[in-house]
Amino acid sequence: MDTPDPSTLDAARMTRAQRAALPLSAEVAQALAEQHGVCIRPLAMRRIDTTTGRVEVVPVPCGSTRQDHCPSCAEKARRLRMAQCREGWHLDTEPTTGRTKPTEEHKELIAARADLLAAYTECKTHGDDLTCEQITESIADLDKELRALGVRGRLTPLDTPPKPLKRSTRRRHDAPDLPRRPIERRTLGQVFAGRYRPSTFLTLTLESYGRVDAHGAALDPDHYDYRQAARDAIHFPALLDRFWQNTRRCVGWDVQYFGTIEPQQRGAPHFHAALRGTIPRAELRAITAATYHQVWWPAHDQPIYHGDHVPVWNTRAKTFTDPDTGAPLPTWEQACQELTEPAHVVRFGTQVHVKGILGGTEEAGRHVGYLTKYLAKSMGQAAGLNEHATDAHRDHARRLHAELQVTPCSPRCAVWLLYGIQPKGARYSMTPGRCKGKAHQSEHLGIAGRRVLVSRKWSNKSLDDHRADRAEFVRQLLDATGIQPSHGVQDGPYRWERTAPTDPDIPPRPVLLLHALAERQRWKAEYTAAQLAANGAPPGDRSAIDDQAA
Ligand SMILES: [Zn+2]
Ligand SMILES: [Zn+2]
Repeated sequence: MDTPDPSTLDAARMTRAQRAALPLSAEVAQALAEQHGVCIRPLAMRRIDTTTGRVEVVPVPCGSTRQDHCPSCAEKARRLRMAQCREGWHLDTEPTTGRTKPTEEHKELIAARADLLAAYTECKTHGDDLTCEQITESIADLDKELRALGVRGRLTPLDTPPKPLKRSTRRRHDAPDLPRRPIERRTLGQVFAGRYRPSTFLTLTLESYGRVDAHGAALDPDHYDYRQAARDAIHFPALLDRFWQNTRRCVGWDVQYFGTIEPQQRGAPHFHAALRGTIPRAELRAITAATYHQVWWPAHDQPIYHGDHVPVWNTRAKTFTDPDTGAPLPTWEQACQELTEPAHVVRFGTQVHVKGILGGTEEAGRHVGYLTKYLAKSMGQAAGLNEHATDAHRDHARRLHAELQVTPCSPRCAVWLLYGIQPKGARYSMTPGRCKGKAHQSEHLGIAGRRVLVSRKWSNKSLDDHRADRAEFVRQLLDATGIQPSHGVQDGPYRWERTAPTDPDIPPRPVLLLHALAERQRWKAEYTAAQLAANGAPPGDRSAIDDQAA
């Protein structure tokens, strides 16, 4: 079919097929937004200027981190992570973590809370429910006040939950013991030759589950250990926690890291981390080899129930029962009593990759890019499971997914019912075998939690702090060059309101997109003018403004 020449379009004389091939205005607006790094699926929010009373519906970025949902927001989020990674990697001064001293007010409130708590316990033992209720309310108010005054950490709950089950933490015999050094209060690495402060790039992988081809598909699917692969993936984040714990104990200082969980093509997760400072390679290898995580869950090797033959909820007894005998199934707590061995043990594979990196080098920049490269993709996409995947690769992914669907993801997972065990917190709304947890969905490959894991004293800033840094950078530049932002500083303060799609003042999406585009062009013009005024050069390809205005 001929594509009509847009300059001589006359819709009336076109065939139906030709008309159907014309771009829709909404698509044009979206393509334009994408090209300029503007959010393509903004939320319409009502902004009320509390000074002037002016009400406007404005587009607010969706904030997705997934490229296939919104390329502009995902790229913005990825760049923010890059900034976070870069900032902490080669710090040369300790991030300040000094807490402010508690004030008199803090102390008084905490003392009052302790008194109330004592009164509560007494009333409780006397069965004075009314007073208990009143005290509960007073404590809730106090807690609110304490939080508002900036008190962090756990406040003693009114009713202390029963102590968790004790179990042996005895090390397994097959794990080599690690040396333990007293922990120094430092997070920085050593300086060499008086000025070099190298840092580390580390990659940790899981074991082999069977040989794979060049695309990551099992060569012999019938003997590939999908069960272990699924369980290892689900417990991988816990294994990483153990790793950092062991590392700090073994090296004797407060090691900091910025790491990302990425899939290998075979579908198993691996971990890349920027680590501040250096640790001898042999030591890192020894720690990796010694690290394991035991999963103290009931055994779940053979499902007892399948298909439609699954446990039934008994409304009177408020418990799941066997579909044939009606006998109640063991609860989670019952099933966990007297466990003599862990249901699963996860450990790293033998491949440990360690590389020394000097700050400020091209190599450091490249590795920051490497660490954040796939963050805008789902685990599945990053493993190469897209339209170009081979049949064998797809089949491999299907088998892994099938295994993930019968692998419980947490003590609260409804999959436990297939193994004849009531999950923790079992209730009538659970469907046996159906859990909405991310770990069971094919695109997540067993990884339900966060993809980016950052230690607390990495850059000592939250993502919001990093975001604010960038906004501040642009503001200062505009300020320094005397450029007045076109939305005057005299505007606001604003109050924000959600909107419903049926509200009469909501503009159609293309209009909202064009609004966002116009706003961005204005920002960009202001920023370019400021750059020119500041150093006589227009800004580089992508810069703070891109992250700021999108
Ligand atoms: Zn967006
Ligand atoms: Zn689950």
